[in-house]
Amino acid sequence: MKIVVMLGIPGSGKGTISGRIAAADAGYRHVSSGSLLRDAVQRKTAVGLEAEEYMQRGELVPDSIMARIVGELASGSGDGATLLLDGFPRTLAQAEMLDTTVAESGATLGLALLLNVPLEDLAERISGRRICPDCGKGYHITNIKPKREGYCDTCEVELITRKDDEAETVRNRMLVYEAETAPLIEFYESRGKLRRVDGSGPIEQTVRFAMGHLKEAGI
Ligand code: AMP
Repeated sequence: MKIVVMLGIPGSGKGTISGRIAAADAGYRHVSSGSLLRDAVQRKTAVGLEAEEYMQRGELVPDSIMARIVGELASGSGDGATLLLDGFPRTLAQAEMLDTTVAESGATLGLALLLNVPLEDLAERISGRRICPDCGKGYHITNIKPKREGYCDTCEVELITRKDDEAETVRNRMLVYEAETAPLIEFYESRGKLRRVDGSGPIEQTVRFAMGHLKEAGI
Protein backbone atom coordinates (compact mmCIF):
# COMPACT_ATOMS: atom_id res chain seq x y z
CA MET A 1 0.00 0.00 0.00
CA LYS A 2 1.19 3.52 -0.80
CA ILE A 3 0.58 6.67 1.17
CA VAL A 4 0.48 10.19 -0.21
CA VAL A 5 0.65 13.12 2.21
CA MET A 6 -1.43 16.15 1.21
CA LEU A 7 0.15 19.36 2.50
CA GLY A 8 -1.10 22.94 2.41
CA ILE A 9 -2.30 25.82 4.51
CA PRO A 10 -5.94 25.72 5.73
CA GLY A 11 -8.13 26.63 2.74
CA SER A 12 -5.64 25.41 0.12
CA GLY A 13 -8.02 22.64 -0.97
CA LYS A 14 -6.52 19.48 0.52
CA GLY A 15 -9.90 17.92 1.24
CA THR A 16 -11.52 18.98 -2.02
CA ILE A 17 -8.65 17.84 -4.22
CA SER A 18 -8.16 14.54 -2.36
CA GLY A 19 -11.90 13.86 -2.59
CA ARG A 20 -11.97 14.56 -6.33
CA ILE A 21 -8.99 12.32 -7.03
CA ALA A 22 -10.59 9.48 -5.07
CA ALA A 23 -13.89 10.01 -6.90
CA ALA A 24 -12.15 9.96 -10.28
CA ASP A 25 -10.04 6.85 -9.68
CA ALA A 26 -10.91 3.94 -7.39
CA GLY A 27 -7.18 3.33 -6.90
CA TYR A 28 -7.12 6.22 -4.40
CA ARG A 29 -8.81 6.67 -1.04
CA HIS A 30 -9.27 9.99 0.76
CA VAL A 31 -8.54 9.90 4.49
CA SER A 32 -9.04 13.12 6.46
CA SER A 33 -7.77 13.45 10.03
CA GLY A 34 -10.09 16.44 10.57
CA SER A 35 -13.15 14.40 9.50
CA LEU A 36 -12.08 11.48 11.65
CA LEU A 37 -11.73 13.83 14.64
CA ARG A 38 -15.03 15.62 13.95
CA ASP A 39 -16.72 12.24 13.81
CA ALA A 40 -15.08 11.24 17.12
CA VAL A 41 -16.31 14.50 18.69
CA GLN A 42 -19.84 13.88 17.43
CA ARG A 43 -19.83 10.31 18.74
CA LYS A 44 -18.29 11.48 22.04
CA THR A 45 -15.56 8.85 21.99
CA ALA A 46 -12.64 9.19 24.44
CA VAL A 47 -10.48 10.76 21.71
CA GLY A 48 -13.34 13.05 20.64
CA LEU A 49 -13.96 14.34 24.18
CA GLU A 50 -10.27 15.18 24.59
CA ALA A 51 -9.81 16.65 21.11
CA GLU A 52 -12.86 18.93 21.05
CA GLU A 53 -11.52 21.91 23.02
CA TYR A 54 -8.35 22.13 20.92
CA MET A 55 -10.30 21.98 17.66
CA GLN A 56 -12.70 24.70 18.76
CA ARG A 57 -9.79 27.02 19.44
CA GLY A 58 -8.16 26.25 16.09
CA GLU A 59 -5.23 24.62 17.85
CA LEU A 60 -3.69 21.30 17.00
CA VAL A 61 -4.88 18.27 18.89
CA PRO A 62 -1.80 17.17 20.92
CA ASP A 63 0.46 14.58 19.33
CA SER A 64 -0.20 12.20 22.24
CA ILE A 65 -3.88 12.04 21.20
CA MET A 66 -3.06 11.82 17.49
CA ALA A 67 -0.78 8.87 18.31
CA ARG A 68 -3.91 6.95 19.34
CA ILE A 69 -5.52 7.31 15.92
CA VAL A 70 -2.51 7.17 13.61
CA GLY A 71 -3.07 3.44 13.06
CA GLU A 72 -6.65 4.08 12.03
CA LEU A 73 -5.59 6.93 9.74
CA ALA A 74 -2.82 5.09 7.97
CA SER A 75 -4.42 1.68 7.64
CA GLY A 76 -5.74 0.63 4.28
CA SER A 77 -8.93 -1.30 3.74
CA GLY A 78 -6.99 -4.21 2.31
CA ASP A 79 -7.97 -3.32 -1.25
CA GLY A 80 -4.50 -1.98 -2.07
CA ALA A 81 -5.76 1.56 -2.72
CA THR A 82 -3.30 4.43 -2.29
CA LEU A 83 -4.23 6.56 0.73
CA LEU A 84 -4.40 10.32 0.29
CA LEU A 85 -3.73 11.55 3.82
CA ASP A 86 -5.38 14.94 4.22
CA GLY A 87 -4.44 16.82 7.41
CA PHE A 88 -1.98 14.30 8.80
CA PRO A 89 0.88 14.73 9.60
CA ARG A 90 0.74 18.31 10.86
CA THR A 91 3.88 18.31 13.05
CA LEU A 92 7.36 16.84 12.71
CA ALA A 93 6.58 14.43 15.55
CA GLN A 94 3.54 13.20 13.60
CA ALA A 95 5.64 12.80 10.43
CA GLU A 96 7.93 10.54 12.44
CA MET A 97 4.94 8.61 13.84
CA LEU A 98 3.75 8.13 10.28
CA ASP A 99 7.17 6.86 9.17
CA THR A 100 7.09 4.28 11.98
CA THR A 101 3.54 3.17 11.20
CA VAL A 102 4.33 2.96 7.49
CA ALA A 103 7.46 0.90 8.14
CA GLU A 104 5.63 -1.48 10.51
CA SER A 105 2.77 -2.06 8.10
CA GLY A 106 5.00 -2.64 5.09
CA ALA A 107 3.45 0.34 3.30
CA THR A 108 5.51 2.98 1.48
CA LEU A 109 5.35 6.73 1.60
CA GLY A 110 4.99 7.70 -2.03
CA LEU A 111 4.91 11.49 -2.22
CA ALA A 112 3.96 14.63 -0.35
CA LEU A 113 1.90 16.99 -2.51
CA LEU A 114 2.01 20.64 -1.43
CA LEU A 115 -0.96 22.69 -2.66
CA ASN A 116 0.18 26.25 -3.31
CA VAL A 117 -2.51 28.92 -3.20
CA PRO A 118 -2.05 32.73 -3.07
CA LEU A 119 -2.59 33.94 0.50
CA GLU A 120 -5.12 36.55 -0.64
CA ASP A 121 -7.46 33.80 -1.91
CA LEU A 122 -7.65 31.94 1.40
CA ALA A 123 -10.11 34.20 3.26
CA GLU A 124 -12.72 33.89 0.49
CA ARG A 125 -12.22 30.14 0.19
CA ILE A 126 -12.66 29.56 3.91
CA SER A 127 -15.50 32.01 4.59
CA GLY A 128 -17.56 30.44 1.77
CA ARG A 129 -16.98 26.91 2.99
CA ARG A 130 -19.98 24.82 4.14
CA ILE A 131 -20.14 21.24 5.37
CA CYS A 132 -22.80 18.57 5.75
CA PRO A 133 -23.18 17.82 9.49
CA ASP A 134 -24.20 14.24 8.67
CA CYS A 135 -21.81 12.94 5.99
CA GLY A 136 -19.05 15.56 6.28
CA LYS A 137 -19.07 16.41 2.56
CA GLY A 138 -17.66 19.86 1.85
CA TYR A 139 -19.24 22.60 -0.28
CA HIS A 140 -18.53 26.22 -1.13
CA ILE A 141 -21.13 28.95 -1.71
CA THR A 142 -19.65 29.86 -5.09
CA ASN A 143 -17.05 27.23 -6.05
CA ILE A 144 -18.79 23.99 -5.03
CA LYS A 145 -22.49 24.72 -4.98
CA PRO A 146 -24.92 22.05 -3.81
CA LYS A 147 -27.80 21.21 -6.18
CA ARG A 148 -30.28 22.82 -3.79
CA GLU A 149 -28.85 25.93 -2.11
CA GLY A 150 -27.94 25.30 1.52
CA TYR A 151 -28.60 21.53 1.53
CA CYS A 152 -26.42 18.44 1.14
CA ASP A 153 -26.82 16.69 -2.25
CA THR A 154 -26.76 13.27 -0.61
CA CYS A 155 -28.30 13.65 2.86
CA GLU A 156 -30.61 16.60 2.09
CA VAL A 157 -29.90 18.09 5.51
CA GLU A 158 -29.02 21.76 5.98
CA LEU A 159 -25.35 22.65 5.49
CA ILE A 160 -23.47 24.37 8.29
CA THR A 161 -20.31 26.44 8.73
CA ARG A 162 -17.62 24.66 10.72
CA LYS A 163 -17.10 26.41 14.07
CA ASP A 164 -13.38 26.56 13.43
CA ASP A 165 -13.95 28.32 10.07
CA GLU A 166 -14.97 31.52 11.87
CA ALA A 167 -12.56 34.40 11.21
CA GLU A 168 -10.93 34.57 14.64
CA THR A 169 -10.23 30.83 14.75
CA VAL A 170 -9.00 30.78 11.16
CA ARG A 171 -6.32 33.36 12.01
CA ASN A 172 -5.13 31.08 14.78
CA ARG A 173 -5.09 28.06 12.45
CA MET A 174 -2.93 29.99 9.96
CA LEU A 175 -0.41 30.85 12.68
CA VAL A 176 -0.37 27.25 13.87
CA TYR A 177 0.24 26.11 10.28
CA GLU A 178 3.24 28.41 9.90
CA ALA A 179 4.75 27.38 13.22
CA GLU A 180 4.00 23.65 13.33
CA THR A 181 3.17 22.34 9.86
CA ALA A 182 5.24 24.42 7.42
CA PRO A 183 8.47 22.70 8.61
CA LEU A 184 7.12 19.50 7.01
CA ILE A 185 7.78 21.04 3.60
CA GLU A 186 11.52 20.92 4.25
CA PHE A 187 11.17 17.51 5.92
CA TYR A 188 9.72 15.92 2.77
CA GLU A 189 11.77 18.03 0.36
CA SER A 190 15.03 16.85 1.92
CA ARG A 191 13.89 13.27 1.26
CA GLY A 192 13.06 14.02 -2.37
CA LYS A 193 9.36 13.33 -1.74
CA LEU A 194 7.90 16.82 -2.12
CA ARG A 195 6.03 17.97 -5.22
CA ARG A 196 4.57 21.48 -5.43
CA VAL A 197 1.16 21.73 -7.03
CA ASP A 198 -0.30 25.00 -8.35
CA GLY A 199 -3.62 25.12 -6.52
CA SER A 200 -4.61 28.64 -7.56
CA GLY A 201 -6.85 27.76 -10.51
CA PRO A 202 -10.14 25.88 -10.95
CA ILE A 203 -10.59 22.63 -9.02
CA GLU A 204 -10.36 20.46 -12.17
CA GLN A 205 -7.03 22.02 -13.09
CA THR A 206 -5.53 21.37 -9.64
CA VAL A 207 -6.79 17.77 -9.77
CA ARG A 208 -5.07 17.35 -13.16
CA PHE A 209 -1.79 18.77 -11.88
CA ALA A 210 -1.90 16.62 -8.73
CA MET A 211 -2.73 13.44 -10.63
CA GLY A 212 0.04 14.25 -13.09
CA HIS A 213 2.57 14.11 -10.26
CA LEU A 214 1.11 10.85 -8.93
CA LYS A 215 1.20 9.17 -12.36
CA GLU A 216 4.71 10.46 -13.04
CA ALA A 217 5.89 8.87 -9.79
CA GLY A 218 4.07 5.64 -10.67
CA ILE A 219 1.65 6.00 -7.76
P1 AMP B 1 -8.99 20.00 9.18
O1 AMP B 1 -10.34 19.47 8.86
O2 AMP B 1 -7.89 19.20 8.57
O3 AMP B 1 -8.86 21.48 8.91
O4 AMP B 1 -8.81 19.83 10.77
C1 AMP B 1 -9.67 20.49 11.68
C2 AMP B 1 -9.04 20.55 13.05
O5 AMP B 1 -8.82 19.22 13.54
C3 AMP B 1 -7.68 21.21 13.11
O6 AMP B 1 -7.75 22.63 13.21
C4 AMP B 1 -7.09 20.58 14.37
O7 AMP B 1 -7.66 21.14 15.54
C5 AMP B 1 -7.60 19.15 14.26
N1 AMP B 1 -6.66 18.29 13.51
C6 AMP B 1 -6.84 17.69 12.31
N2 AMP B 1 -5.77 16.97 11.94
C7 AMP B 1 -4.87 17.12 12.94
C8 AMP B 1 -3.55 16.65 13.15
N3 AMP B 1 -2.93 15.89 12.25
N4 AMP B 1 -2.93 17.01 14.30
C9 AMP B 1 -3.53 17.78 15.22
N5 AMP B 1 -4.75 18.27 15.08
C10 AMP B 1 -5.44 17.95 13.95
